[in-house]
Amino acid sequence: MTFSTLGLAPPLLNALAEVGYTEPTAIQAAAIPAALRGDDVLGAAQTGSGKTAAFVLPMLQALLARRASGTRAVHGLVLAPTRELAAQVGETIRTLAQHLPVAVKVVTAFGGVSINPQMMALRGGADIVVATPGRLLDLVEHNALKLDKVATLVLDEADRLLDMGFTAEVNRILALLPAARQSLFFSATFPPAVQALAQGMLRNPVRAEV
Ligand code: AMP
Repeated sequence: MTFSTLGLAPPLLNALAEVGYTEPTAIQAAAIPAALRGDDVLGAAQTGSGKTAAFVLPMLQALLARRASGTRAVHGLVLAPTRELAAQVGETIRTLAQHLPVAVKVVTAFGGVSINPQMMALRGGADIVVATPGRLLDLVEHNALKLDKVATLVLDEADRLLDMGFTAEVNRILALLPAARQSLFFSATFPPAVQALAQGMLRNPVRAEV
């Protein structure tokens, strides 16, 4: 199995060669073709499985296509439960986007720090926003960003998002997103509340389990 057989475009294959990923992990092999087709994905994957690249690579490929058509707006939104995870996902996106033919602006936002630098970072727009739910809503309330053109939503570590008490925030964010979007849902565990959230937000998801 190679990344090119999964349907990834040359600029992303070059980026993968640069970072030294030679073979897709199991979750990548399962999730990437479905995500590239535009399907929703329900991914069961632990940290360390390579789940981040499984959603970042298709998101970047769709972003490249959208840029080629001239559109610029927040394309991808990743919700993460903690500042550490948000920062880590933001770094992975920047690394994989480094050698693309267009500049990709990634903004990471989380609570517990001043909102002003995050508002400044969002000025002039962003392609991908990685955020914890509470801070994302604060930024929306400050008119720092709009979510009405988001094409892909990712819930990363959905079980931890719920464990940390973000259910209401996640639901408020879902209501701000276009109905016609792709949703990629990743969780390590699937207790009833996580299943209910997935069922409510995914349309005919492809299951990717490892
Ligand atoms: P994650 O589960 O997304 O946190 O990724 C775990 C680690 O695996 C990270 O350090 C990634 O850089 C690395 N990684 C992800 N995909 C691959 C791959 N296909 N080949 C080698 N390393 C990878």
